[in-house]
Amino acid sequence: MVESNMPAIGIDLGTTHSCVAVWQHGRVEVIPNDHGNRTTPSYVSFTQTHRFTGDAAFNQLITNPCNTIFDAKRLIGREFDDELVQKDMILWPFQVDASPCHGTGKKPVVAVTYKGEQRKFAAIEISAMVLMKMKEVAEAYVGSAVNNAVVTVPAYFNNLQRQATKDAATIAGLSGVRIINEPTASAFAYGLAQKPNGSNVVRRNVLVIDLGGGTFDVALVTFKKNVIRVKSVSGDTHLGGGDFDIRMVRHFSAEFEEKHHKDISRNPRAMARLRAACERAKRNLSSTSIATIEIDCLLEGTDFSSTITRAQFENLNLDLFEECIKHVKKCLKDAKMVKGDVDDVVLVGGSSRIPKVQQLLQDFFCGKELYKSINPDEAVACGAAIYAASLSCFDDNNPRLVDVTPLSIGVKVHLGRMAVVIPRNSPIPTRMEKIFTTSRDYKTRVYIPVHQGETLEASDTNFLCELKFSGIPQAQKHIPRIEVFFKIDADGILHCSAQELMTGNKIRAIAHYHSGRLSRKEVRRMVKDAEKFRVADKQYQEKVKAMNSLETYTQNMETMLECHGAKVGLSERRKMAVAINQTIQWLDQNFVLAEGCKFEDKMIELEGVCGPIITKMLETQNLSMSNNGASGSRAKIEIIELDLD
Ligand code: ADP
Ligand code: MG
Repeated sequence: MVESNMPAIGIDLGTTHSCVAVWQHGRVEVIPNDHGNRTTPSYVSFTQTHRFTGDAAFNQLITNPCNTIFDAKRLIGREFDDELVQKDMILWPFQVDASPCHGTGKKPVVAVTYKGEQRKFAAIEISAMVLMKMKEVAEAYVGSAVNNAVVTVPAYFNNLQRQATKDAATIAGLSGVRIINEPTASAFAYGLAQKPNGSNVVRRNVLVIDLGGGTFDVALVTFKKNVIRVKSVSGDTHLGGGDFDIRMVRHFSAEFEEKHHKDISRNPRAMARLRAACERAKRNLSSTSIATIEIDCLLEGTDFSSTITRAQFENLNLDLFEECIKHVKKCLKDAKMVKGDVDDVVLVGGSSRIPKVQQLLQDFFCGKELYKSINPDEAVACGAAIYAASLSCFDDNNPRLVDVTPLSIGVKVHLGRMAVVIPRNSPIPTRMEKIFTTSRDYKTRVYIPVHQGETLEASDTNFLCELKFSGIPQAQKHIPRIEVFFKIDADGILHCSAQELMTGNKIRAIAHYHSGRLSRKEVRRMVKDAEKFRVADKQYQEKVKAMNSLETYTQNMETMLECHGAKVGLSERRKMAVAINQTIQWLDQNFVLAEGCKFEDKMIELEGVCGPIITKMLETQNLSMSNNGASGSRAKIEIIELDLD
């Protein structure tokens, strides 16, 4: 693939982990974060003094459970009253409130205490914070600003969830964002693994299965020359490792209640600790047949200790695992293929490591070996980076993508029926239109409700937006002709408009978006807030650097005084000791609250006292060395010190 000057970045914004990769020097590289980890927890934590993102936020989960936010991807683009949001809320240690917004309905916001104040953040803002972290990780690695990136979403995300993810990227400062489906990105990674030298994969049908922490996606992808064509997708935006953890949490909280007659469900800290222990046990069960849970002082001084076998874990979750197979069947059916047509079943996502999931899949595919040669935690980000590279530089040999829309889009018509305009699995980008008429006489104004989903009853589908259409010439019912245009762009995002055909007048339809969609004003406000956080982050990093330098310098001075104090006079020793002790005391008292510049001032002050005394100590040392026959040269001194060691 030809390389452009701009870094080609791919970001996998996961429910539990995010990952960023770059295409450079003719290969794809996963970028380690500031902790040296190749994936970053999608966590944000708010404390008395600071906001943490990623590993630092994850480390706050047990000590600061009510202000540590995760699973934002399960809230993004959803309404507060959504049945799934209501269910999840019960088990999250943090609080979720309803916030009125410019559309109908209410949007969910997380309520936290930050710097002693109550603050509320929309899921979009939390996701933007995670994206901003990934952007910074990439910038530190490539050494330049990163404004463009390919960000992935579950294939089964609806229009609102996609739009919300794109808004989150804008808030994070990624102005040029392209969206790609997660299993499609994995297909790019598979393509590269098959033909690392850049040639094209020969014709193959590949079923990508992505079972992560919060979502499940299946995609049937065909490879033919340099065209990667998605034939069908299926999945569930609320099925993944988090759900398996919750089943275990319920199992063990019932056991705890039975044993100790205490209910832990109302204690956020106890719930967070049990959940973390269950997640660990679940991962262990992928390689062992029994796992132990041991938590000291889980609730009111009572310890908890128990075990779970792999068979028990599988029983707790069997219906969820079987749900995955149903989606596989649906995906094959939609692609008009049978099991035997599939050349490779590619596993990605952390939860695809679960042996029972693998066994069910293998049984379904009549014992076929599953393809596990790409890293399940990194494939999505790697694929997104490959796609980013193919977008940033045109080359005939670049892989060409044809993706599909996961859900049908249509209009709610008479008697609440759903009239589909764009059927699911239509290749995108696409543009389709349909003509509608009025159901009552002399209507000059209509509202066209746009829905997304698969049922015939529009009320069971997702309401996306409403096109307000006025100025229709007066006529009896069934006479007016209103043509509705739906366009789905390459990011899978819908744009709609309508025109009246009777007179040929093009009346612009105004789309009133569903409450999940942000207004421009809200996005602008969030962009400003995000910038404030970015500045605060930078100041915090500078403060930590200044603080560490001061601490290190103080420790060095203490050592110097101990080892070489005898080489200067008593008053100088005292002066230096007093300055060191004062600095140590000052550090203890101001460790948390002082600003970065105060640490620098303190450093200058300490250097002012210690610097001249140290110089004197070293001069005396050099003198005594030369008196002992050693030359004053630096190399000689080093040799003597090494001999002493
Ligand atoms: P997402 O993309 O949704 O963030 P990931 O693909 O990172 O999710 O997968 C995270 C999930 O995978 C978590 O629920 C984690 O517990 C689960 N997981 C990771 N390793 C294993 C394992 N060895 N066995 C079972 N589950 C695992
Ligand atoms: Mg994932």
